[in-house]
Formats: sequence, C-alpha cells, structure tokens
Amino acid sequence: MDHVVNRVHSIIYEWRSILGMVIWDVIAGAAFICLLYLALMNMESTLTRTGVMLLAVALILLSIAAKYLLYYGKMRRDDVTGGWNKKEFERVSDRLLKGEGEFVVVYANVDRFKLINDAYGDDVGDAVLKEIHQVIDAEMLRWDEVSGRIMADNFGMMMRFLSMKKLEHRLSRINEQLALLEDSEGIKYGIKMYFGVYQVEDRNEPVSTMLEKANLALKKVIQSPQHLVHMGVYDEKERELLSREKSLETKMERALKNGEFVPFLQPKYELVNETIGGAEALVRWFDPVEGMIGPNEFIPLFEKNGFVVELDLYMFEQVCKILERWKKKGYRNVPISVNMSRGHFTIPGFFDRYLEILSRYDVPKNSIEIELTESLFYNEMSMLNDLINQIHEAGMRCSIDDFGSGYSSLNMLKDVRVDALKLDRVFFKEAVDDQRGKSVVNSVLHLAQELDLKTISEGVEIRSQVDYLKEMDCDYIQGFIFARPMSVADFEKIAFAGAQSSAS
Ligand code: C2E
Ligand code: MG
Ligand code: MG
Repeated sequence: MDHVVNRVHSIIYEWRSILGMVIWDVIAGAAFICLLYLALMNMESTLTRTGVMLLAVALILLSIAAKYLLYYGKMRRDDVTGGWNKKEFERVSDRLLKGEGEFVVVYANVDRFKLINDAYGDDVGDAVLKEIHQVIDAEMLRWDEVSGRIMADNFGMMMRFLSMKKLEHRLSRINEQLALLEDSEGIKYGIKMYFGVYQVEDRNEPVSTMLEKANLALKKVIQSPQHLVHMGVYDEKERELLSREKSLETKMERALKNGEFVPFLQPKYELVNETIGGAEALVRWFDPVEGMIGPNEFIPLFEKNGFVVELDLYMFEQVCKILERWKKKGYRNVPISVNMSRGHFTIPGFFDRYLEILSRYDVPKNSIEIELTESLFYNEMSMLNDLINQIHEAGMRCSIDDFGSGYSSLNMLKDVRVDALKLDRVFFKEAVDDQRGKSVVNSVLHLAQELDLKTISEGVEIRSQVDYLKEMDCDYIQGFIFARPMSVADFEKIAFAGAQSSAS
C-alpha cells in the first residue's frame, strides 16, 4: 500500500508543473468557450452555432494536447545534448530489458573534461558534450539500444552484449571517433572516454542500481595507475570488497580511540643460540562484534585512505609504552621494530610527531627499530636518506622491510645507511634445496654482511632453511618455525621466562 501511495506522490510531484498549467489552460479555454457562446447567442441557425462551438472546443483541445506532447517530449530530453536525460534513459532501458538477449550497462566518463571547460568556456563545453552525445548515439546501432546523459560529463548506455571482445571493440570505436573532434580552428580536443561495464544479471533490478554498478567499475579504471585500460568490468567480489572496506572505514576512527588496535609481538630469534633477540610489533584489530581482524584486511585500505599514518603513530607509541614498562620491570633489553608505511612521506615534517611521542617515554632509544618498506626505496631516495638520518639522530635504528618482494636492486643498498635488512619471505617459499634460490639468498646475505647490516630472514617455516641460514651467518630468523605473532603478555612469558619472577 505504501508503495502505491509513494508512487502516486512521485507522479504528482513529477507532473505538478504540468498539472498547474493544465488547470490554467482549461480555465482559459472554458472562458473562451463561454465568450464565444455569448457572442453566438443571437445566431439564427442552431446547427451552425453548435457546429462553430464544437469546432472551437476541438481546436482548443487539440492545441492543448499538442502543447503538452511537445512539453512531455522536452521533459525527456537533455537540455545540453538533445538526447535522452537520465530519467528517460532509465525508462527506455527498463523497457528494452523486457526483450530477449543479454545486455550491458555502460557508464562512461570523459577524461579531464574540466580542461575543455577551463580552456574554451562553458558554451563550447556544452557544444562538445553535444558532439560526444552524437558520437555515442551513432554507436547505438540497434533499435534495442539506448544512450543518455546521466550528469555532467557522464553518459549511460544500454547495449546488447555478445562478447567482451566485441564490446571492447565498440567502445574503442567510440574513442576513435571522439579523438577526431576538433575546435573551430581544426585543433583536436583530444577527447577520450573511460567506460565502466556492468553485465546485467538481474533484469528486475532498477536501472539506476545497474548504473551505480557500472560506475563502480568505472571508478576502478580511473583509479588504475596511468589509466592504461579504458574499460573496467563490474565484479561482484569487488563490490563485496568495497562494501567491506566501507564498513571498516566507518568504524576505524572510533576503533582507534577505543583501543581496539592491539600490538602483537612476533619474536626474532638470534640464530647463533636460537634465543629471542628482538620482536616486531604487528597490529591486530579486535573488533567487539567481529573479533580479531588481521592487518592484511585493513592495512592496504588504510594505506589508500591515509589512516595508516595515524595507526603507525599509535603503534609507535604502544611500542614506546611496552619498552618503558620492560625497562621499569628490569627486563633485559629486547629491541622492538615497528612498521612505517609510505603514507607518511606526503606529509612534510611528519617525523616530528614521532619525536614528540618518543620524548614522552623513558625508553632505551636504540631498542626501537623503524621498518621502512622496500617499495619506499624505489624513487624517494633523498627524502629517505633524510629520514634515515633523522631516525639515527633520535638514537633509533632502521631497517629495510620486505627486501626482495619488489624490484629494488642490491646496488641500492650501498646508498642507504640502514642498520638491518629483512629478507622477504618470497625467498623461503620454495624449499631451499633449490640451488639457484640458495645462491640468491647467499649473495644477498653476503653483501649485507659486507655493508655491516644485520640480517633478518622473514617467513621461515622449515627446519632445513634454519640450518642453511645458520650456515650462511644470517643473524636473525622471524618465522613460524620459531614463533607466530603473539600477545605482549605471551611474549613476555617466553622472552623473560627467568626474569619474570625476579623482576616482578
Ligand atoms: P611485515 O611487516 O612484513 O610483517 C611480517 C608478516 O609476516 C606478519 O604478518 C607475520 O605474521 C608474517 N609472518 C612471519 N613469519 C611468517 C611465516 O613463517 N610464514 C608466514 N606465512 N607468515 C609469516 P601480519 O602480522 O599478518 O602482517 C602483515 C603485514 O601487515 C606486515 O608485513 C606489514 O606490512 C603490515 N602491518 C602489520 N602491522 C602494521 C603496522 O602497525 N603498521 C603498518 N604500516 N603495517 C603493518
Ligand atoms: Mg614489517
Ligand atoms: Mg616484512
């Protein structure tokens, strides 16, 4: 019932301007008929009088009808392009979907259209949009396809689907045509479109939802590095991932305030005597509803949305707190490393916040090691060296994390004065029986030793790898073979077993 009432409301809303005009037209028409009647009152022939009256009524009704048909036609049109507007595009699409065959909804956006508006002004911008519409519309080859302008420089298309290859071909053809558009002096505008594609599965879904899905696929293209592809296809799994990310995003700040992010410690074992010689602080999110969430689920998201900066600082402070407590308890000195993501590098002077936190705790500063991810070392060398100097000036240490997971070269090691090198677990995924793999590990360890860097092998799970790394004089192992990341309380139990009773 509610549904019907809402529908009636929306129809009245949509048609209220027309209804208003109809009322005025009817009043004016009726007044005219009355006047005509008065004027013809004295006419002799009743037949002629009735004929004239009927003719007048018919003409008035016809003109009113013609006016509204024209008005209705205009209501469905987009002012700028002259094509269908969003509402009409959705209405026609809805009708087309009742037919046979497969369809895709395409959401298209003009690349950097703002530049055209800025360079040529809005009027030319509008004219270009009209031309773009014409190019797109010319590609709607079949009677059962439709396009329309959704908003600004975004167009929607409901197209027949035969294969992705064919679709891609058709969309490229649109871009080829758009590339030819030129201004009055024959200079090409350089127009190109990006397309998000949603292959229609549930035809009963509102077309507006289909457009949203196609738009999601488009966003993926626009966010892709260098926009190498011009077309992206909607994928249900990605949508789930996106909605998962949204739900994490809505609660991340509150979670940080509520202390839901907790540092776990994974021991680093010194290889000479296989005892704990350090630890890495790894974040875990304890959500009151979901329970524990692993960093692989939220760190990449926080790296995208920038929140990782806050989280890293929080983790850094937690590490300071832990080390201060250990010092007060008289535990032996066990260094802790903490990750620093590349997100900080966009913030000038970001390291001051680290220094400010450090100044508030009474900690052995050289027990803190900052892990810088390998990918930082690709192109930000001078900034990086400045940071490394600052870390050292503050009395802390630093290491290259995940070395070997990317494309950094061994050569780069000589240019950065880090204290330690963490070999990524990619080196230890394969069994070490593989001679070539062994040679690579061997040469990395060798070079690191020559440069006086401590070496830590991450992700070691097999005993034979431990023995081999020992032979190669690797300093530490951080891997499941010895221990997984654990709560601070558990770590204290195994790291300070003897000291527990005497120190507490
Ligand atoms: P990472 O910094 O390279 O940390 C090492 C990861 O390897 C940890 O995963 C650890 O549990 C895992 N690992 C250690 N030994 C083994 C092993 O033998 N086998 C396998 N399969 N895995 C092993 P975790 O805790 O899931 O963390 C994953 C990544 O999340 C970290 O990689 C780091 O990049 C990021 N991360 C964790 N905490 C933080 C943080 O506080 N800040 C930032 N920026 N990133 C963090
Ligand atoms: Mg790390
Ligand atoms: Mg690592």
